[in-house]
Amino acid sequence: MLTHSFQDLQLSALGFGTMRLPTDESGEIDQAQLDRMVDTAIASGINYFDTAYPYHGGKSEIAVGKALSRYPRESWYLADKFPGHQNVPGVTPLDPEEVFEDQLKKCGVDYFDFYLLHNVNESSLRYYGNPENRFMDFFLEQKRKGRIRHLGFSCHAAAEALSDFLNLYGQYMEFCQIQLNYLDWTLQNAEKKCAILKQAGIPVWVMEPVRGGKLASFDAETEARMRALRPDESIPAWGFRWLQTVPQPTMVLSGMSNLEQMQDNIRTFSDLKPLNNEEQALLKEIAGKVAKFIPCTGCRYCCAGCPMGLDIPTLLSMANDMAIHNSMNTVARYGGLEKEKRADACIGCGQCAEACPQKINVPEELHKLSVIMAGQKTWDEICRERAEAAALAKNSSRS
Ligand code: SF4
Ligand code: SF4
Repeated sequence: MLTHSFQDLQLSALGFGTMRLPTDESGEIDQAQLDRMVDTAIASGINYFDTAYPYHGGKSEIAVGKALSRYPRESWYLADKFPGHQNVPGVTPLDPEEVFEDQLKKCGVDYFDFYLLHNVNESSLRYYGNPENRFMDFFLEQKRKGRIRHLGFSCHAAAEALSDFLNLYGQYMEFCQIQLNYLDWTLQNAEKKCAILKQAGIPVWVMEPVRGGKLASFDAETEARMRALRPDESIPAWGFRWLQTVPQPTMVLSGMSNLEQMQDNIRTFSDLKPLNNEEQALLKEIAGKVAKFIPCTGCRYCCAGCPMGLDIPTLLSMANDMAIHNSMNTVARYGGLEKEKRADACIGCGQCAEACPQKINVPEELHKLSVIMAGQKTWDEICRERAEAAALAKNSSRS
């Protein structure tokens, strides 16, 4: 297993993400299968395990803690996350202390090696960006007490909001988890986010290396071209090899759902085989086809003349995300924008299309985005529904 240094630790280059664990017919986590996966992970040198409060409806923390408890505490590193992104208007804010104590208990540990503010984005910045919420004081106190060893954050925001967050809390952050893969390098402007983090001296943790499976299989012709270049590697392995081509990642998290995926990943992370130019060119071509994306380069030539002051490249990147899959993160980010900054504020004047070197029909793309977003449940609505369901469950267990 390849490893990377982080401060005084030696971390496996591959971490076990536990958002998509194996489940049985009733949808419950298959603990026996998970135990076998954890055995295989530890035997092969994986020492980093990543869970979160909402994964598997709150059950991932319990199952992962149970599986790890069979090994000495000092032989593995556990990461968990504070779900500040679930604090939305109309829902009683989660109490950081109550959540944190609950998480320790569920995982069966008395400290977390890594603890993250979960899902910083344009919408959750309403909570994270409000100093009155005082969550940071609490987490820094836990760090002083040794109950959090390393504090960081995961981020789905655009580069500008990432910078805003760093201006507030960058001094306390030891690592940042971002969505990084050969599609999002340009699509979600991950290249720029890496540059911002590098400048801030914050190591990069990678999530969604194969974009939730979107980059794990392609049409027969595309896969044949990939196999011709790398006959011994699986299709998902290309995503990990691409990550070996960019310099920054310290940790690559893969959400593995079965032993087969894990064994394939372990094979890939046993050596360094970065992609050559021909292979990178093929991935670029594939990325273009997969996303069928709006070819916005983020040059911002269109922005200065927009009478509505819209952040056009960010809106187009959200449209690209939604074209690939209905991502709740994108819906949440969009919902976090001021109403007058959303796609439906466009008055169709057309100056942007004229200014665009890529000849993108911006007003048309923004109109499509506003129609798609109008049909979505907002993140706030989802959080309110979840909070009501949790309150109901709590009340019925009392009666
Ligand atoms: S068409 Fe819309 S996005 Fe483009 S400049 Fe006019 S108002 Fe702004
Ligand atoms: S001018 Fe075109 S390519 Fe440049 S940011 Fe605007 S839409 Fe994107």
